[in-house]
Amino acid sequence: MKKGLILGYIYVLSLTILISLAPQIKASGISENHFSTVHPETSQTAASDKINNSDPSSQPVLQSAAHELAGNAFPVKNTVCYEIRGTSNQLSKKNVQSLAKWKQQITDFSLQNNNVVYLNGETDERAVALTFDDGPDAVVTPAVLDIFKSYGEHGSFFFIGQNVKAFPAVVQRAYQEGNLVLNHSYSHPDFSDKSSNFITGEINRTNEIIKNVIGKVPSLIRPPYGIINENVVKIGKNQNIKLIIWSIDTFDWSQREAGHIAQNVLENVRPGDIVLMHSNSDKSQTLKALPQIIEGLHAKGYKIVTLDNLLHTSAYQN
Ligand SMILES: [Zn+2]
Repeated sequence: MKKGLILGYIYVLSLTILISLAPQIKASGISENHFSTVHPETSQTAASDKINNSDPSSQPVLQSAAHELAGNAFPVKNTVCYEIRGTSNQLSKKNVQSLAKWKQQITDFSLQNNNVVYLNGETDERAVALTFDDGPDAVVTPAVLDIFKSYGEHGSFFFIGQNVKAFPAVVQRAYQEGNLVLNHSYSHPDFSDKSSNFITGEINRTNEIIKNVIGKVPSLIRPPYGIINENVVKIGKNQNIKLIIWSIDTFDWSQREAGHIAQNVLENVRPGDIVLMHSNSDKSQTLKALPQIIEGLHAKGYKIVTLDNLLHTSAYQN
């Protein structure tokens, strides 16, 4: 009798706790869009993928009209555009909206200019490229190089011209160890409202500085914030430069937790993915995530390749 009373009491108590917790449980499901973070990569177009990252099977691979017209069973080179993946719980609702808009725009640009703007490579092989923006610096970029060296792997680095000027030895080392040294503008401006002259100046100035360090001029460029417009595409076409975006954002600039950064790669990876990370000085969590990412990719049977191999193109103009 006494036991029955106690059990009854526990039952009522549990029920009360459950009912009182219900609103919090429900709220936590939608709360992640209400934080506010500004993308160092995309202050205007800060991006999150949460809205369309729930079910990969519901996200069809986008294909260009050219591909459909060709009626080929095997896709024409770079006419398949992956849906850009990756999540962060540190984005405001506004960030999420601007990201969704940016994704649509960049995907359209890629589909319309399939030999200039790349979000991903096209391959059936389990191969991905790990790319690092915003370096070099004195600490994080050398540590990333150490990690690649210890695994016998290589990365593709989009360096900022003024940082190359400050840390030329790091750039030289990256190149000598077999990594790609690529162009991420001179001063990291948003190209969308700049003149052709200004944009060309940013690109050429950085090319010149990189040439002085490694003797090569990059032919692959990542526009700051992943932002392009018709003007930038035209410059790319005229100068025979490829504009490289990404198909997985690790959000290492937003949700700076090694586990989450690695998860963004390992839970989303597809053959041909281009993965966005950063190697500037405040990316210690990216460093922590990198061994997990490399080992996780290997465990899934993926090989890590540089962008020139992934895109079957040349990384340098000379
Ligand atoms: Zn950047």
